[in-house]
Amino acid sequence: DKSQLKPGEKFKVKEYRIVTRNIGVIDPRNIEEYIARDGYFALSKALKMKPEEVINEIKASGLRGRGGAGFPTGLKWEFTAKANADQKYIVCNADEGEPGTFKDRLIMEGDPHSVIEAMIIAGYAVGATKGYIYIRGEYYNSVENLRKAIKDAYEYGFLGENILGSGFNFDLTVRLGAGAYVCGEETALLESIEGKSGRPRLKPPYPPQVGLFGKPTVINNVETLANVPQIILNGAEWFRSIGTPNSPGTKVFCLVGDVNRRGMVELPMGVTVREVLYGFGGGIKGGRELKMVQTGGLAGTFIGPDKLDTPLDYDSMKNYGVSLGSGVILAIDDTHCVVDIALNVMEFFRHESCGKCTPCREGTKVACDILEKMTKFQASEEDLKYLEQIAYVTADASFCGLGQSINVPLLSLINNFRDEFLAHVKDKVCSVGLCKEVKPK
Ligand code: NAD
Repeated sequence: DKSQLKPGEKFKVKEYRIVTRNIGVIDPRNIEEYIARDGYFALSKALKMKPEEVINEIKASGLRGRGGAGFPTGLKWEFTAKANADQKYIVCNADEGEPGTFKDRLIMEGDPHSVIEAMIIAGYAVGATKGYIYIRGEYYNSVENLRKAIKDAYEYGFLGENILGSGFNFDLTVRLGAGAYVCGEETALLESIEGKSGRPRLKPPYPPQVGLFGKPTVINNVETLANVPQIILNGAEWFRSIGTPNSPGTKVFCLVGDVNRRGMVELPMGVTVREVLYGFGGGIKGGRELKMVQTGGLAGTFIGPDKLDTPLDYDSMKNYGVSLGSGVILAIDDTHCVVDIALNVMEFFRHESCGKCTPCREGTKVACDILEKMTKFQASEEDLKYLEQIAYVTADASFCGLGQSINVPLLSLINNFRDEFLAHVKDKVCSVGLCKEVKPK
């Protein structure tokens, strides 16, 4: 019985620490401990290279965006490097808002200098002299550790003017978000830094060409950046020797839900859902049955136990219909009702919709209304069809990624568990006994 396995017992997973290598090992508030573990050596090495050589190394490594989309990092840097402008920016997207994701918080708390060092290297590579870390306001310890690290980096000459005698200048500032999920969307984030309300912009143009204050801007996720110093130090070939050919390196996974051991683990790309769940997570809590797993965050796909051998990398979405996203793996056991889960997911999106565009603002609301009716056994089969249409239309017509992605969780739930949805609308039965009939007023 797999659910009884202890962590690592059968589906052994081997941790590979690149971005988490210093976490729990050094005092994150002591710059000298970072330096003692080769900290700022990559910066020193990069400053002796030509900017295009730095970009070529990142391109050759195959590093892809760890915020979720997997866009090639080196290519992004190259776009900004090639853009002609008097001012360019590096922005770190640290507005980690995906429910269940906490990897960026732990990286910033445990190893803030790795992110700072990477931003300086990125600035040198693309010709930017100013950087912003846009961080979730609730991440108090990350904010504190980053501010202390930035202060120390200035004192040691890694930030500011003429860094390490190279003639290169770079300044870094921390900006706090105020709790809106949509501000993690990169263009809404830029609006927020500019002092406007955090609502997305139309893409294209993409930020690498037209970004902060209209200037070319590299926006990278925390985990993406934390890979950079190690790639510069050890080389692209070393990085490519880890993970899969199209998704080299590691991924930091956040395992949450009904598992024996929840938490964060860094594993080579291409590890399977099963290996994370049983090898690291030690199986399902209380020996219960696994009902489904959601990968990639709340906007990710729900898969049944039959798909546990899916490899986790950026191509799995294409080949297996499973999303990697920000690396959340949410395990759900058989005590949960699918309609209740769908309602929970949609309530989050309804709450976080910024209201700028009608399809997202109204689509998420209508989806919630129908799902709520289902939990009270007031909905019909027609309502279920309407719900599916709403999912398609909202995804098709919404302005940004928030509304555009609601069809993924909703339709994967309906497609995997249609019988349960039908039981709620036809037979007025909830298999786990959670939903109760409520007579319409
Ligand atoms: P996207 O595919 O539109 O863009 C990804 C990145 O590539 C962006 O930085 C974009 O500017 C750049 N890009 C894409 N095409 C480009 C081009 N032609 N030229 C220049 N640059 C280009 O995806 P997105 O909407 O930015 O992000 C979606 C992802 O965000 C999802 O995978 C989701 O999992 C993830 N997400 C993460 C969190 C979190 O907390 N980490 C929260 C919500 C969503």
